[in-house]
Amino acid sequence: MALEAASAGWVSEKGSFMSAFTSHKAILPFLLASAGIAGPITTVPWNGHTGAVSFTYDDARNSQIPNLLPQLDGLGIKATFFITNMYSFPSKSSEWIEVAKKGHELANHTSNHNTPTSDNVRTMATTLRGLNPVVEALTLAYPNCTVSGTSAVEAENFMARGCGQTTYAWNKQPSDWMNIQGLILGPSSAGNGVTMMNTAKNNNAWVTTIVHDVANSPDQYSLTPADNKKMLDQAVANKLWIATYQDVGAYYRAHFTMDNVNASAGNGPWDLKWTSPHPKMPRKVLLKVKLDANTFGAANSIKVMQNNQEITPESDGSYTIDFMLLGMKVTKVPVGVARERSRLEGFQVRRDGRGFDVEGPDAARIDAWTLSGKHLGATDLSEGGKARLDVEASSSVLLVATRAGGARSSQVVGPVH
Ligand SMILES: [Zn+2]
Repeated sequence: MALEAASAGWVSEKGSFMSAFTSHKAILPFLLASAGIAGPITTVPWNGHTGAVSFTYDDARNSQIPNLLPQLDGLGIKATFFITNMYSFPSKSSEWIEVAKKGHELANHTSNHNTPTSDNVRTMATTLRGLNPVVEALTLAYPNCTVSGTSAVEAENFMARGCGQTTYAWNKQPSDWMNIQGLILGPSSAGNGVTMMNTAKNNNAWVTTIVHDVANSPDQYSLTPADNKKMLDQAVANKLWIATYQDVGAYYRAHFTMDNVNASAGNGPWDLKWTSPHPKMPRKVLLKVKLDANTFGAANSIKVMQNNQEITPESDGSYTIDFMLLGMKVTKVPVGVARERSRLEGFQVRRDGRGFDVEGPDAARIDAWTLSGKHLGATDLSEGGKARLDVEASSSVLLVATRAGGARSSQVVGPVH
């Protein structure tokens, strides 16, 4: 990559920074024209997967804990359980708390399995949230698929599940977050479960399944353990994002806000802020986002912070941020200087597996940074002296020397082979 190839020696920061800025401006219109109309921040679709699925199971039926949980846990799949007081809950509430602690979602199906009202929605929400702090109970499934009482539903939930064949495309905002549909499966339509997993992948879409019991001799809204397992296996084979209704829904809903955040191209700093799309969003919504290089500069020239903590980029250049912090700060770091040719000589560097030996003519402070701007360590060099700087890094490292008086020079040192 250009950064490493062009960095044979120490460079003067001031001169190179100006020329880097000038060339950036000259090339900008071309980049904008070729890149299309991407926003400054874009969320990676479906958390980096091609398609997503949420498996939902209703009513807290007796078969679910003994027959279904082992399947889910064996595959590491987190599912959603829409709970009502009419079946095995609340008599088995302690077992359901254990289900929630494993990362499955316990969500609202009203306390009495009737059409939603303020009373039966709030009663169930309060009960579930009182079980354990991990239970947020922020989504609801309409009993008997009757989409009604939506204002009572919306008071406690950021999203609610109706019934139907709708699949959800990444870039199209749903018309009604209080009717995000799943498809009911039964013994005669068990094959539809597998078909849905393929639809999600082929259309890069989100699908939700609805099942009641997982048992032998299933009723018309239930599956045998074997048919349920076939569907789960297909989702795994298709490498879909398999996550709870709440987790996929919150990621999906948040991205319509995130991808509309504005930022002007330049040298920053940027103090970006946004607002939550609904008062009942989850406490934390982790989003994988990419920052447009035409606006902010390349990943190795910026620093991303939330709550005074640096977010370091993943290997694909994305950042995993918490959307619910409702802001992030982006600043330039002096990494881009190493792109220019050497103009300042004097220091000698030798890298080994554990760090650097540095030798130089002048007293200086030596700082080590990753190319994404994370500070690795520092050491002081006396006039005509030698210093040792141990760092834990196997990739290229940027060394910055700051002489007494403030003059700086820098060098990228490649990995040890
Ligand atoms: Zn039900």
